[in-house]
Amino acid sequence: MQTILDIVGGTLIDGTGAQPVAQAGIRIVGERITDVWSSVRPAHLTMPPTGTIDATGKTVMPGLIDAHVHLSYGEGRTAEEVDVYAGPEWSAIRAVWNAQKVLNAGVTTIVDPGGTYYVSVAARDAIATGMFSGPRNYCSGRHISADGGFADYFPSWIGLPPSAEGVLCGTKDEMLREIRRQIKSRVDFIKLSGDSQAQEKNMDCGPCFTDEEFQAMIAMAHQLSRKVAIHARHAETIHKATKYGIDWIYHASHVRDADFEMLKQAGVSLCPTLTFGMNIITFGKECGSTPGHIDLCKREVDAMVRTCIKAREYGIPIMAGTESGFAVCPYGDWHAREMELLVDLCGFSPMEAITSSTYTNACAIGAAADVGSLQPGRYGDLLIVDGDPLKKIGLLQDQKNIEMVIKGGAEVERHVVPPRRRMGHESGFAVSTMILRKGPEGVFAALP
Ligand SMILES: [Zn+2]
Repeated sequence: MQTILDIVGGTLIDGTGAQPVAQAGIRIVGERITDVWSSVRPAHLTMPPTGTIDATGKTVMPGLIDAHVHLSYGEGRTAEEVDVYAGPEWSAIRAVWNAQKVLNAGVTTIVDPGGTYYVSVAARDAIATGMFSGPRNYCSGRHISADGGFADYFPSWIGLPPSAEGVLCGTKDEMLREIRRQIKSRVDFIKLSGDSQAQEKNMDCGPCFTDEEFQAMIAMAHQLSRKVAIHARHAETIHKATKYGIDWIYHASHVRDADFEMLKQAGVSLCPTLTFGMNIITFGKECGSTPGHIDLCKREVDAMVRTCIKAREYGIPIMAGTESGFAVCPYGDWHAREMELLVDLCGFSPMEAITSSTYTNACAIGAAADVGSLQPGRYGDLLIVDGDPLKKIGLLQDQKNIEMVIKGGAEVERHVVPPRRRMGHESGFAVSTMILRKGPEGVFAALP
């Protein structure tokens, strides 16, 4: 028999940006919402519920969608930790372990724009089949990159190993073949690494693909019913990707003034991802970021804030994402910070920020019929929050304020995720962390 869960008495924020509804009721039958009402339960609901949650005095809102989580990165500190020192078996087990932390934080859906092997695809399926607790996962495979493009971090004599988050494609045909292979391996969408910047500290040297390559890749993915997202900071990369039909853009730092109208007309969504940069600006000194990298993040965040402000004026959808998966943005800790940054830095109202984190993300990835709002037909993915996030958006960052996470009509058991130690092999074979120099008296002295 299907469960029938009624959640009654709370103030409902449905995720679409509609005004909150006091004394609202929601019925979830099995996994999906069948009815939403204000104050009086509709007469046609004659079946008594199998369970009722009294949410009086609480806020009921959709589970968050973080549009930028890399499930395979394993909280890596360096490009090498993300790309080299973990094989598929270890990465996959680590990914489902980390996914629990994401769901416990109130994130019921993630978008994973790129990662090693097909770790995210396997994690998605392991969670969907009920083997592990975690968010729904809409995921891509490895970022498709060209020589010198973003994700091509290592010297040419190394290239990109199979464990890397990106895959190097030398020609248009290789790019198209990689897209076909990824879709065969059941990715949900294709992720392109658009900027050419491997050798540039200012991350600003233009697109790494030709017009012909852009056009062919996006057309191929669309032909095979997949959306295409791109990492693009440079103005020309953003321009070309939009021209050839990209669906959404990560970062979009340096949009030309003249291109906002084009983005609007093309229906492109933007996911600037302020949290990652702001974490480095705020905590970089403590966690070992170089001053140069902190400065770079300041420039990037400034540019992305301008993008958000202009895009909002034009009515271009802004997606909320955090880049969780790096050591400076670990799983489960920062997913709700993006909303606060959109409010504090970009002039969003708390309601607009919540919409970015829910309905806007769902629309951008084409999943609004399933997730992102509390309307009939959608999965019963929701949060019961102690407090009013419309008064204080930051309260969603403290998991103590999220009284209950419900996914697919069932309460998530948010047991404490056990701590883990980082394995030595994740950071490489460390012979020494010090430089061993020969001293003047013939003895060896260890110096930093
Ligand atoms: Zn990313």
